[in-house]
Amino acid sequence: MIIVLKPDIAKDSPELARVLEIARSFPGISTEVHRIEGATRALTEVYLLGPTHAVPTRPFEESDAVEKVVRITQKYRFIGRHDPGLDAVGFEYKGVRLSQETFTLFPGLCAVDTPENIEETFATLAQLGVTTTRAGAYKPRTSPYDFQGLGKGCLPWLFESAGKYGIRIVTMEVTHESHIDEIRRALAESGDATGVMLQIGTRNAQNFELLRAAGSQVEHPVLYKRGMGITLEESLNACEYIASGGNRKIVFCLRGVKSHLGEPHRNFVDFAHVSVVKRLTRLPVCVDPSHSVGRRGGGPEGLLDILHVAAQGTIAGANMVLVDVHPRPELALCDGPQALKLEEIQDLVEDLGIVRKAYEERVRRLKGR
Ligand code: PEP
Ligand code: MN
Repeated sequence: MIIVLKPDIAKDSPELARVLEIARSFPGISTEVHRIEGATRALTEVYLLGPTHAVPTRPFEESDAVEKVVRITQKYRFIGRHDPGLDAVGFEYKGVRLSQETFTLFPGLCAVDTPENIEETFATLAQLGVTTTRAGAYKPRTSPYDFQGLGKGCLPWLFESAGKYGIRIVTMEVTHESHIDEIRRALAESGDATGVMLQIGTRNAQNFELLRAAGSQVEHPVLYKRGMGITLEESLNACEYIASGGNRKIVFCLRGVKSHLGEPHRNFVDFAHVSVVKRLTRLPVCVDPSHSVGRRGGGPEGLLDILHVAAQGTIAGANMVLVDVHPRPELALCDGPQALKLEEIQDLVEDLGIVRKAYEERVRRLKGR
């Protein structure tokens, strides 16, 4: 059960204390208080946990502090859609809002390799006004003999460079709980030059310890990549793990699923699930066309498959696009074959700008009826 308080009720108010007191008077019920900061208002929600079927809604509805009481019957208790006023709010991090209504591009390097390549990439992004990127320091590779990423050693110059070019968020995969601490420390040492969104990769989609670790801190948002060989429901439950730990700043990323039916692409593109995830949850949805397609082929008109697929996710209402780029893809230490060249980022920005406008127009037309 969720009790949504009126917007002006503060976290330390006697009204809230009274609501908590009533809630805890029922056997086996514990409470959690969550504050959601929206663009125009902040809301406080009280979650009742335990055997809530025996708890009546009336005592709460009678309180002047309560806007409404929502009985949760579905299994996605924290990430599910329960409240039209809140479902599209999303979250803000480092001055960037990510929600089911926003659209943000994250072009960047799959794996950090040299300071020169990072500088060149960030300089290109800065010229285009892009302030969000990806950069992998910890790479989960299929073969132990492949490049494993530079690890914490690259974080100081990476964050310094990000700060220099006005990059606000770097999306970075973590494969172990200790990486979160390494990132936090390096960010502090850089004077918080930028922000990091922790990425949980598809290979760790059901690494429950890692999910708990990402969920038990609230500083960094989490980009959760759908498991490549598990059901959508299982992936959504994994996000529920993160959220139930306390961290509600989660973006759900579609990145294709393993199937030979997708060949010659690396994975079978699953972007038809953009609207499904938006319907089932309040999470902003990201698409990753690079890891879905995995190669540079294009249509006869000249548009790369990666661009076509990015457009498919965008026309369906995706809120974030994560794309691999590299100044010299042929020299990249990880996933070079799927990296766009720096001069192609502008094409990407403009192309997806057209598609996003078309999506917005589709929604407007429907609403105008
Ligand atoms: C990545 O984004 O670098 C990555 C490894 O992605 P995925 O977990 O989707 O394979
Ligand atoms: Mn990659």
